[in-house]
Amino acid sequence: MPFSDLNKWIQDYPLLGDIINMKPVTWINTSHKQMSEIKSLPVNIHDMYDAEALWHRFAPYLAKAFPELEKTNGIIESALREIPAMAKLLNEKKSFPDSGRMFLKCDNELPVAGSIKARGGIYEVLHYAEQLAIEKKLLSPEDNYEVLASDRFKDFFSQYSIGVGSTGNLGLSIGIISAKLGFNVSVYMSADAKEWKKNLLRSKGATVLEFEGDFEEAISKGRTATHANPKGYFVDDENSKHLFLGYSVAAFRLKKQLEELNVAVDSTHPLFVYSPCGVGGSPGGVAFGLKEVFGDNVHCFFVEPTHSPAVLTGMLTGKMEKISVHDLGIDNRTEADGLAVGRCSAFATPISKLLISGIYTMEDDELFRLLYWLGISEDILIEPSATAGLIGPHRISQTDYLRNHQIDPASITHIVWATGGILVPDDEMKGFFQKGKALAEQKVRMEG
Ligand SMILES: *Cc1c(COP(=O)(O)O)cnc(C)c1O
Repeated sequence: MPFSDLNKWIQDYPLLGDIINMKPVTWINTSHKQMSEIKSLPVNIHDMYDAEALWHRFAPYLAKAFPELEKTNGIIESALREIPAMAKLLNEKKSFPDSGRMFLKCDNELPVAGSIKARGGIYEVLHYAEQLAIEKKLLSPEDNYEVLASDRFKDFFSQYSIGVGSTGNLGLSIGIISAKLGFNVSVYMSADAKEWKKNLLRSKGATVLEFEGDFEEAISKGRTATHANPKGYFVDDENSKHLFLGYSVAAFRLKKQLEELNVAVDSTHPLFVYSPCGVGGSPGGVAFGLKEVFGDNVHCFFVEPTHSPAVLTGMLTGKMEKISVHDLGIDNRTEADGLAVGRCSAFATPISKLLISGIYTMEDDELFRLLYWLGISEDILIEPSATAGLIGPHRISQTDYLRNHQIDPASITHIVWATGGILVPDDEMKGFFQKGKALAEQKVRMEG
């Protein structure tokens, strides 16, 4: 990155100065379009219907392969829970009243993979497995997919390899489902990936390869090694339509859950959704799905760590996946697993740029404080990255977004997407909680 370019950019986009200094910022997306203004996207609602149908074809297999899915007949879905005590606590801490109702989308409890990656990651592997089996005439879409749990299919899939680069959670989802189907699966982990995730993966039969560098490096090494094998398939988090569609299906499920709770979504009852963002695939897929389902009545926001604003810098400068936070001298060091990403998804970001309302960044300490507050107010423990959306209502209320859109704050239904947590070992979670507690108390002392 030539220095002169950088200086010009800072002039053109004044926010970039604060981003480079790793200060928390809130960016409202000026490229956002009304749904009626959008001509065409690389994916559409029919792709979402197809993706949902694939999940249903695989449901009998999933129920058989994973006993934890028996009670939902093989459907992988999470609860939507109102969190009034947390909303109240946040209103007190941040002193802003009348902020509407707040719900947690509990992907922290998603079965099998314990994070939002259960949506995209598992979907992409199932899609590939089905395609292989149908190509070789071993399977037809009308069959009961329970047969995929048989040794015959495991032997068949064992000729093929699947690779993935990951900071942790994507690796878990791809590793677990691929090994279960019988694939040879290799997970290329970045240096920041947690030890327990590597151990868990090995225990499930995946091969774990560790790299010194960050996520980008793990992906690039994994991509090269996997493609060297003619029977290798790489799940490419930097450019995947299948991951994206797997995530998007969440919107159909959420619509049903809101209806069951009698929560209206219309022009006078807008839905605000806050999603923690790494490469932008999961929040992008979810945002796309929600926009297809709720149109302009849903407002989607992404959240990134101040040290890893990959999607924000990509969108703001218009350079998308061509720019990395390292080009701006930002270190991409954060304790928020899954968000420690320096470069955005080439597939998801141009779509999100039309659909999302904005992005805000936040500091790691704030993630831990929120983790602690959610624990004491609602008795729910989620991983640090998954807390990022909790501060969304407050951050957006500090901008002129609501005024410009003539939205009454009290009319909003807020959905905070909790993206991971259930697989985090107890002692690790206790450590997060204690850290959050210490930070929360320190803050009170400093302010008091
Ligand atoms: C992966 C992940 C995200 C972000 O998803 P991207 O597709 O990388 O944007 C958020 N939270 C958690 C816990 C994750 O594992």
